[in-house]
Amino acid sequence: SAPITVPARGLVLLVGASGSGKSTFARNHFRPTEIVSSDVCRGLVADDENDQAATADAFDLLHHLVGIRLRRGLLTVVDATNVQRAARASLVALARDHDVLVDAIVFDLPDEVAVERNRIRADRTFGPQVITRQVRELRRSMKGIKKEGFRRVHVLRDVAQADGAAIIREK
Ligand code: ATP
Ligand code: MG
Repeated sequence: SAPITVPARGLVLLVGASGSGKSTFARNHFRPTEIVSSDVCRGLVADDENDQAATADAFDLLHHLVGIRLRRGLLTVVDATNVQRAARASLVALARDHDVLVDAIVFDLPDEVAVERNRIRADRTFGPQVITRQVRELRRSMKGIKKEGFRRVHVLRDVAQADGAAIIREK
């Protein structure tokens, strides 16, 4: 399939339910320092990457980091579920504030992929109903996501597409 092009100095949002493979994908395609992860931010502000009560502070930190990187002209990949429109909107606005382009890479995989992967995970404490809700939010997002201000919305529809994806940085 066609390579995924991303703006070299812009913002990239990974979008997908927990277990859809965002962090794995990010590790495979981007430098560690290019990835700003909501889990890492949660860990930094709460000593616990699963502490949902720390979400507001974690996203404060995430936005702060992303803003600084964009101001400095660095490609930045947000590794968070981003399944809620409001979560995407605040990051799209941040990109606009810094006059950079923003792309989305959406993990619109079959429902059972995320549920099954999370079932065998040791680093996640929540149950399948959380994944099901996120998948539902993602599905609901798909219709309008192209009009949310992204330059491009790249959609990965199955595991083969996600595993076979190639990333090209534009100039
Ligand atoms: P979260 O939102 O909870 O952080 P995530 O989308 O970042 O989830 P990952 O941590 O990348 O998901 O992957 C979840 C689990 O699925 C991990 O155990 C990982 O090893 C496995 N996994 C991820 N991508 C693949 C893949 N392409 N093929 C097989 N297994 C995968
Ligand atoms: Mg992750």
